[in-house]
Amino acid sequence: APRLRVAPSPTGDPHVGTAYMALFNLAYARQQGGSFVLRIEDTDRARFNATSEQQLYDTLGWLGLTWDEGPDVGGPYAPYRQSERLETYRPYVDKLIEDGHAYHCWCSSERLAAMREKQQKLKLPTGYDRMCVGKTKEERAQLEGFNDTPVVRMLVPDDAPTTFEDVIRGTVSAPVPDDQVILKGDGFPTYHLAVVVDDHEMGITHVVRGEEWISSTPKHVLLYQWLGLEPPKFAHMPLLRNQNKSKISKRKNPEARLTWFEEQGYLPEAVVNFLGLLAYPPAKGESGEDVEKFTVEEFSRVFAWDKVNTVGPIFDLKKLDWLNGAWIRGLQLDDLAARLLPFLQADRVLAQDPSPGELARLRSVTEQIQTRINLLTEASALVAPFYVADADLEIAEDARKGLKDTAGEVLDTALAALTPLDQWHAAEIERVLREAIVDGMDIKPRLAFGPLRTAVSGQKVSPPLFESMEILGKDSSLTRLRNLRA
Ligand code: ATP
Ligand code: GLU
Repeated sequence: APRLRVAPSPTGDPHVGTAYMALFNLAYARQQGGSFVLRIEDTDRARFNATSEQQLYDTLGWLGLTWDEGPDVGGPYAPYRQSERLETYRPYVDKLIEDGHAYHCWCSSERLAAMREKQQKLKLPTGYDRMCVGKTKEERAQLEGFNDTPVVRMLVPDDAPTTFEDVIRGTVSAPVPDDQVILKGDGFPTYHLAVVVDDHEMGITHVVRGEEWISSTPKHVLLYQWLGLEPPKFAHMPLLRNQNKSKISKRKNPEARLTWFEEQGYLPEAVVNFLGLLAYPPAKGESGEDVEKFTVEEFSRVFAWDKVNTVGPIFDLKKLDWLNGAWIRGLQLDDLAARLLPFLQADRVLAQDPSPGELARLRSVTEQIQTRINLLTEASALVAPFYVADADLEIAEDARKGLKDTAGEVLDTALAALTPLDQWHAAEIERVLREAIVDGMDIKPRLAFGPLRTAVSGQKVSPPLFESMEILGKDSSLTRLRNLRA
């Protein structure tokens, strides 16, 4: 059965690209009854960030993109953290050196920098000039720019193959690799060696990653060839792009950070759905319409490599907002209420330990706002009026300014009509108010109910008026009408 993996580097806040890669790897692994592995590629000690790994677990876990094997859950090929596998790489390096495919390089970083500068100035091809090739340490030590601790480089022949087969793109060609460092002075392998050794050792059958690795793939193919190993299949996913076609990046786009989505009030189901849609055409419904809403499970059922886009998909947050709204509307009431709770608590609309009465009210309020929000963060403003004391309800500036001359009379009429009412239900409230204001005063519904809405919620836009009054109860509703009148 196929084995796929996602191999993030713990270098900071997890990148949305990691979730995007995880989704496509996982979809295929699930479809084929294969395995999905999480490997932590932490060999770049300069960029290592200690909190990043836990954040990767948290964000991928939040999205439901769960792995079968990984540093936290273990598995038959443990350890899954490259820093714990240093002994694994050593014999591969030794073999490459022995076979003449790799060599020690003692050039100091100053010498390499000077060499690069010179190459650039003379517009020569850049790449290592092979000063160390064929020299012993003693011989090399006699020359300038010597560093006592060597690195190991690949000895890439001029006729190295530069094309490879890509599952999504067909035959792909990339530039000739230079003499890539594979083992660093600190004894850590570079990404290129570690990724080849680990994908082999862990039995990975499909390497699915971002298109920025296309230029590295010929190096990997060469390493597989030299080591006499069967290479996996390669698939390079298109990078996610801004409207202006630049690639989305954590330095410029807040939405490139995975933690951003949860903070903004997106549902994990909507985020993975969105990531899937970015690089994959929507399914067709019964009458040929696009079916854009799908679960990971549905996605993996229909997934096929030949349908993956190769053109960089535009990361369109408006589309995500729309999808999120669609997902919110599909949730069970109790589920949605439970997901809203932490946001309401963070905004201090509800306390950390709400009373049973407050929670019961949350359910009713949730029902009223379910069709009105696209993001969980939009709920607080709509919900807050249901949890403040009548005297503390603030009337928003724009709502107060929007009141017409007739507002006072509308409020008086409403109070007179509602006071005798003993059936406090939305339908009954609506009937009485329509009769008294729309018919009785001959005012259009929009003008008739505007002041009532403002009185009850403090806002111009609110959940449905009559339902809101039912939830608030008669006393509270009438008090609020009187308070605005005063
Ligand atoms: P930046 O996005 O600012 O370059 P970074 O340097 O932390 O931030 P990388 O380390 O380059 O990001 O990438 C982290 C992971 O996210 C890699 O696996 C990479 O393939 C993926 N990735 C980066 N940018 C994109 C993108 N625009 N679309 C899809 N995946 C991406
Ligand atoms: N560690 C690499 C990254 O962060 C993995 C690339 C690959 O999947 O080969 O993207």
